[in-house]
Amino acid sequence: MRAVIIGAGIAGLSTALRLHQAGWETLLVERAPARRDGGYAVTFGGIGYDAAERIGILSDLQARSFETTELSYHRSDGSRLFSLDRATIAATTGARSLTILRGDLESVLYERVRDHTTIRFGTTLTSFEQDDREVRVGLTDGTVETADLLIGADGLHSATRALLFGPEEDFLVDLQHKIAVSMLERRPASIAPGTTGTHSSRGRTAAVISAGDGRNVAFFGYRADHARPGADVHAELRRIYGDLGWIIPEVLTGLQEADSIYFDTVSQVVVPSWSKGRVALVGDSAWCVTLFAGYGSSLAVGGADRLVTELTARPDHIPAALQAWETAIRPEAERKQRLGRRVKGIYAPAHPLTLWLSMLPLRLASFPLVRSYMTRRYIKG
Ligand SMILES: Cc1cc2nc3c(=O)[nH]c(=O)nc-3n(C[C@H](O)[C@H](O)[C@H](O)COP(=O)(O)OP(=O)(O)OC[C@H]3O[C@@H](n4cnc5c(N)ncnc54)[C@H](O)[C@@H]3O)c2cc1C
Repeated sequence: MRAVIIGAGIAGLSTALRLHQAGWETLLVERAPARRDGGYAVTFGGIGYDAAERIGILSDLQARSFETTELSYHRSDGSRLFSLDRATIAATTGARSLTILRGDLESVLYERVRDHTTIRFGTTLTSFEQDDREVRVGLTDGTVETADLLIGADGLHSATRALLFGPEEDFLVDLQHKIAVSMLERRPASIAPGTTGTHSSRGRTAAVISAGDGRNVAFFGYRADHARPGADVHAELRRIYGDLGWIIPEVLTGLQEADSIYFDTVSQVVVPSWSKGRVALVGDSAWCVTLFAGYGSSLAVGGADRLVTELTARPDHIPAALQAWETAIRPEAERKQRLGRRVKGIYAPAHPLTLWLSMLPLRLASFPLVRSYMTRRYIKG
């Protein structure tokens, strides 16, 4: 059995690894010219964590994960509002979860697939056609690949989804925020190693995450009605965050040196079906839940794992296997999308009272009595 997978991100690499373990041959097609690392920090748990354990990559992920020892919240002048310590953070994230840079999660998967999977970088698909025996995929390098299955794991702005179901405007649900995230060459002096420092004010959040091994991530998330991608990220961040103090001016200057900045709208993907015939969408291309749900990479790995379980159960009936897979995974994806839409309202509240209320649970968790209850209840208990 052979599969062509478009996109060598978390979903594409996980699918390639699981298909290989099930005896399939795979070809990965990646638009980027080469592997990238870094990115942003993701919390990885739930069905992704369970799948990683089954697939045999959990110990590699744990080795590359990092621990946040303090979450500190600041006013615009830098003074501290409150902070959460290591035990409280661990209590809120749960035991079967880890924090890792997105690029490190990808690297763990990449190292496990590169010896048995061809990855064609700098390439994408141009067309495909299918019948009840095979799918033929046209690529930008001029080749046509024949396979039993085509997987579109090419993320939020999936070209596979556009060819399969139509333009993305029909499936993207705008959550009215934009984000800019980048690795930061120098950690601001007031962010101690292991700390994530955050400031939130009138529809804008900015944070610096110390991500272990001297690496740091700068994060900006802000409300943007009718958000559109594009625009000059530096000019836009200066316009939106220019009046704020603390470390924000230093971080904006540091971003000028960044190799690459992830800059996009926050949008969910809602598609009535994730497959047609022998073509399926996996990961953000199918169900993007957004960072507000904090679960997209977990769903990508868990979804890929379950997909191959269903294909293995019905190797001669690929469309039926894809339907069974969707029935199994869709409720979890939709639950996380609902969570994402709820979090949208409190992520970067425009009104100071809403901001104060949204931070109340965290503030309470910073009190010693609540902290010791949470630690007893969730960690030791
Ligand atoms: C700031 C931020 C924070 C997040 N935090 C969390 C978190 O805490 N926990 C969590 O679980 N998730 C989190 N997520 C979500 C998570 O990162 C995504 O859900 C996950 O990366 C989805 O993986 P994917 O492989 O489906 O898509 P992607 O990671 O987008 O990968 C798609 C791949 O396809 C390639 N590609 C794109 N178009 C084409 C094309 N036309 N042809 C070929 N290749 C193509 C891309 O270059 C890329 O390699 C966060 C996301 C963001 C942006």
